[in-house]
Amino acid sequence: MAPNIQSKTQTQFNQIEQEENDVICKFGVITDAQFANCEDRPAWYNKDKRRYYRGAITHLRKAFNHWDSMKVKPKFVLQLGDLIDGLNNEEVGCNSLDALEETFKLFEEFSDIATFHAVGNHELYNFSRTDIALLFRESLINRGKLNPEKVHLQLNFHSSDLSDENTLLYYKFQPQQGIKVIALDTFDVSIIGHSPDSLKYKQAAEILSKNNHSCLSKWDYDEHLEGLNKRFQTQNGGLSENQLKWLKNELEESEKNNEKVVVYGHTGLHPDSCDASCLAYNYDEVLKIFSQFSCVICYLSGHAHTSGYSVDENGIHYIVLHGIIETCPSSDAFATITIKKDQLIVDGKGSEMSLVLPINTMKRKTTETVDMEIDNEFINEERSENTDKFNDYEEIPGTSSIVEVSV
Ligand SMILES: [Zn+2]
Repeated sequence: MAPNIQSKTQTQFNQIEQEENDVICKFGVITDAQFANCEDRPAWYNKDKRRYYRGAITHLRKAFNHWDSMKVKPKFVLQLGDLIDGLNNEEVGCNSLDALEETFKLFEEFSDIATFHAVGNHELYNFSRTDIALLFRESLINRGKLNPEKVHLQLNFHSSDLSDENTLLYYKFQPQQGIKVIALDTFDVSIIGHSPDSLKYKQAAEILSKNNHSCLSKWDYDEHLEGLNKRFQTQNGGLSENQLKWLKNELEESEKNNEKVVVYGHTGLHPDSCDASCLAYNYDEVLKIFSQFSCVICYLSGHAHTSGYSVDENGIHYIVLHGIIETCPSSDAFATITIKKDQLIVDGKGSEMSLVLPINTMKRKTTETVDMEIDNEFINEERSENTDKFNDYEEIPGTSSIVEVSV
């Protein structure tokens, strides 16, 4: 049966969200803060958009104040990458460590809600893979209050064996029985974060050159690329064979244990959820793995600076968050996600969208294509004919759209 997306009023949505009796797990999500202690400026790719570099801290504080004030606080927060901007490493007067410290101080202030990090491209403009892995661990475990054993946190790098190639930034944790959270490293195979003489750099360079992108010094350069090939850009990356194997093993284990799995990473995975320029190089291999299991309920990502949503034929939801950096500091850019037995509720504030989604844990269908019908008062007529995605939501002024999807 085709899923049907229907609009909800704010009152209806609040009622659904506040029905706490069947809540399994609640967590917060933020992305693309891109903090830098420098002046605001228009986005390089669209002069109508503005980047509020210092406003990132205001956004983070408002998000945590909100979560801290909730009757039932989120168990944890997922930070989907690009916490600080690459400008920190380039501009006089900005400093990568100082910028990261500003954000860490805030997470420390609210350390009863542990913040887990995914690596973004901007992390790797500022730090080596090894350094960012250690810094994130420092924030989460040493300076935070997290007891890694309590949430079965399993990082995939060891202090005794650190090099940029050995530092694996994908990991898992289990905040409670029945829920597993998997962080993907969408820059595992990339020319950023690895030295040019490393195997993974060479693999990434080969992927780029095979796909008509031979100028490795050019960023955000896709004029000569078409369609899905727009993902083959230097600021993106992919998952290594080893990471894919690890992911498959984790999902196999979750399937056996009847767990619900939330997966997150920086770049997009589903072509209908974001622009092709924001997808992981081998997104299709990840989707193929997802399709073999019924435990994955959603994949969360940032990187696109535009809200997006799609659902695949297996009922897995792909949610792309708009993020902080291009959201005016007087607004908000965060979401609270509630997992219920049969529903996934995304309560987006400010530039983030709100969704009421069904959780499909029935055996996956791999062949049926599902079309979606959109009936949403907030989507203009032209967009409502686009039946399988909600991209460009942020261009609809003053809305925080609430939609319900039923399969
Ligand atoms: Zn990014």
